[in-house]
Amino acid sequence: MTLIIQKYGGTSVGSTERIKHVARRIAKFQSRGHQVVVVVSAMSGETNRLIALAREFQADPSARELDVMVSTGEQVSVALLAMALTDLGLKAKSYTGAQVRILTDSAHTKARILKIDEGGIRTDLDAGYVVVVAGFQGADAHGNITTLGRGGSDTTAVALAAALGAEECQIYTDVDGIYTTDPRIVPEARKLASITFEEMLELASLGSKVLQIRSVEFAGKYKVRLRVLSSFDEEGEGTLITFEEGNMERAIISGIAFNRDEAKITVLGVPDRPGIAYQILGPIADANIDVDMIIQNIGYDGLTDFSFTVNRSEFGRAMGILENQVQPHIGARGVVGGEKIAKVSVVGVGMRSHVGIASRMFRALAEEGINIQMISTSEIKISVVVDEKYMELAVRVLHKVFDLDQSS
Ligand code: ADP
Ligand code: ASP
Ligand code: MG
Repeated sequence: MTLIIQKYGGTSVGSTERIKHVARRIAKFQSRGHQVVVVVSAMSGETNRLIALAREFQADPSARELDVMVSTGEQVSVALLAMALTDLGLKAKSYTGAQVRILTDSAHTKARILKIDEGGIRTDLDAGYVVVVAGFQGADAHGNITTLGRGGSDTTAVALAAALGAEECQIYTDVDGIYTTDPRIVPEARKLASITFEEMLELASLGSKVLQIRSVEFAGKYKVRLRVLSSFDEEGEGTLITFEEGNMERAIISGIAFNRDEAKITVLGVPDRPGIAYQILGPIADANIDVDMIIQNIGYDGLTDFSFTVNRSEFGRAMGILENQVQPHIGARGVVGGEKIAKVSVVGVGMRSHVGIASRMFRALAEEGINIQMISTSEIKISVVVDEKYMELAVRVLHKVFDLDQSS
C-alpha cells in the first residue's frame, strides 16, 4: 500500500461544497488502495480575516496571541473535512499541528518545524483512517501554538511526507501546475510538465507564492517527490519537481517570479571604512529581520551610500532600528526608505550554459523605459528591483523576450 500526502489549499476548501468535493476525491483515491494523510489550509480569506480582526485590537498584534488566533482557521477546516469524509462512510480523524506534535521553534508567525512525531499518524493509518492534519501550525517545546508563515500549509505537507516516508506529496491548488509565471498576471503563461528542484527553489524564494519556500527546501533536503496539481480537474499530471536536469528539452529561462513584498532602505553618507556593513546589518539581523538585496555604492570623499531590501512587513521596524540605533552610532547622514518597489526575477538552469541573458533582460527593460534600481544575480537567476508601477509590464515583457509565451 502506498502512502500519499495530499494538501488542499484555501480556495480548494473555500466553501462547504468544495470541502465535500475534496472529501469525494479523497474517498476515490483511498478506494484505489492508498493510505492518505491530508493537510488542509484555512478556508480562503479566513487567515486574512483573522489577522484583520486582531489588528482591530492591536496595531501590531502580539505574535504569540496572533498564532493562537490564526491557527483556528485550519482547525475549522480539518474538522469539517473529517466530518465530510465520515459522512461518506470513511474512517477519518482530524488533528491540529500541536496534537500531532509538530514541534517547532518559538519564532511565532514564522516558526520552523524541528521534529514531527509521526507514530500516532501511522497507527491511525494502519487502522484504516484518513488522517486530516491542520496545515500551517505546530507547537514549540513549551506547548505554545506557533504558525509557519503565510502559505505554510505546503511546508506542513512536505514535512509530513518526509517524516512518514510518503511515496509522493501532492499539493492541490487552484491552478493545474507550475507555470512559467503567475497565470493571473500573464494569461499567456505556459504550464510546465516538470521543473527542477533548484529552479523551483529560486522561484519560490523570489516570490512565486504557489509553493512556500520552506516546503521546497524540505523537499530538497529529504528528497520528497513533490507534485503540484489542480483540485478542480480530475485529469492531469500537474507539475513534478524533479531532482535531475536530465535531457529535458528546455528553454534557457524556465520561469519569471515577482515580488511586491519588499521595501528598500538606503543609509546615506556612511563613512566608508571596514566593518560598516556589519554595523548596519548586525542590528537588523539581531532583530530577526531578513535582508535580501544589498548594494554598497562606490565611496566618494570617504563616504558611501548603503542600500538593502527587507520584507515590507518589517520595513517600519528596520527603519526604526536604523534611525535610532545605527545612524547616530556610525555617524551616517540619513536614512531613507521606500515601499513602492518590486522585484522581478528570471530563473533557469539554462543560464549556466548560455551567456548574454542579463544583457537581453536589461535591454528589454530599457526599451520599455523601465529603470533598474538594484540588480542581483546567482548562477541560475537574475533579479532586478524596479518601481512597483512597472512590475506587471516588466514581467510581461520578459515573458515574451525569453520565449515563454504559450504560442512560442
Ligand atoms: P493555495 O491556497 O492552494 O495554497 P496559493 O494561492 O497559495 O494557493 O497558490 C496558487 C496561486 O499561485 C495560483 O492561483 C497563482 O495565481 C499563483 N502563482 C504564482 N506564481 C505561479 C506559477 N509560476 N505557477 C502557478 N501559479 C502561480
Ligand atoms: N492559511 C495560511 C495562509 O493563508 C496557510 C496556508 O494557506 O498555507 O497563509
Ligand atoms: Mg499557498
